[in-house]
Amino acid sequence: MTYSTTPKNKLQGKVAIVTGGASGIGEATARHFATHGARAIVIADVQDEMGQSVAASISPNICSYVHCDVSDEEQVRTLVDSTVNKYGCLDIMFSNAGMGRATDMHEQSVLDIDLSAYDKLMAVNARGMVACVKHAVKAMVEGHVKGSIICTASVSASIGSYGIVDYTMSKHAVIGLMRSASLQVGSYGIRVNCVSPGVVGTPLVKDTMGLKNDKEVGKVQELSSYLKGGLIMPKNVADAVVFLASEDSQFVTGHNLVVDAGFKLKV
Ligand code: NAD
Repeated sequence: MTYSTTPKNKLQGKVAIVTGGASGIGEATARHFATHGARAIVIADVQDEMGQSVAASISPNICSYVHCDVSDEEQVRTLVDSTVNKYGCLDIMFSNAGMGRATDMHEQSVLDIDLSAYDKLMAVNARGMVACVKHAVKAMVEGHVKGSIICTASVSASIGSYGIVDYTMSKHAVIGLMRSASLQVGSYGIRVNCVSPGVVGTPLVKDTMGLKNDKEVGKVQELSSYLKGGLIMPKNVADAVVFLASEDSQFVTGHNLVVDAGFKLKV
């Protein structure tokens, strides 16, 4: 069977922020945004060297890097304000930054959840998402932009998890935020959606599951896939994000787009 190539330039002239863009799904999405004609992409992350190198490799003309710890609202405010000041508006916020675990434990029981580690993880995965959504909405409303906000949740956002309680809680919170925000800002023409990846081979997955190498990651991916045709790559999630960011999804809001090769259905 042959497939037609994806039409490009779905994001012609758009200004986008990608948090967690130094690696994995965020990096792949920043690259896709560039391919689809975005005029400015601001990568925000805490891994400065990696972020700068990704931005430079995409194109120094359209892609820049800003240090931003999303758990700090002031840093998020500065990120959004500086983007609007430099490029005139904000069309797309891909709020994607996240961490997999905040302790050395790979198997976490409710009996021994470390609450300070829990606070640390929620500060990034839940509070950070709120800060990004809040300041993106503010910029879009003030700029009269009918923008698109996409938050990265997870398959863990819709199921219970045996080993990662705090991560699972944080991703449920992202869905609640997305659903509530989408109702509130729809009257401004702003859309808010989630993308929920299954198991994708990134540093976060290796770290969260205690996997040593790509082979071990591949094994877990195979076990969690119910769709023939290979393993989910960051670029496959990026395709879904481009759809949610573009006019192709003009009437899609409050939606959680799952990219998991059937994993959630089988759980
Ligand atoms: P990754 O480790 O490749 O990328 C995560 C990025 O977020 C890193 O560059 C990291 O530096 C950045 N980050 C972490 N804390 C930050 C902070 N406080 N402020 C700013 N940036 C910060 O992992 P990934 O898999 O690409 O993760 C991206 C998102 O996808 C995360 O929200 C993750 O929870 C979600 N997710 C991943 C998978 C998967 O299988 N990889 C599955 C479901 C959901």
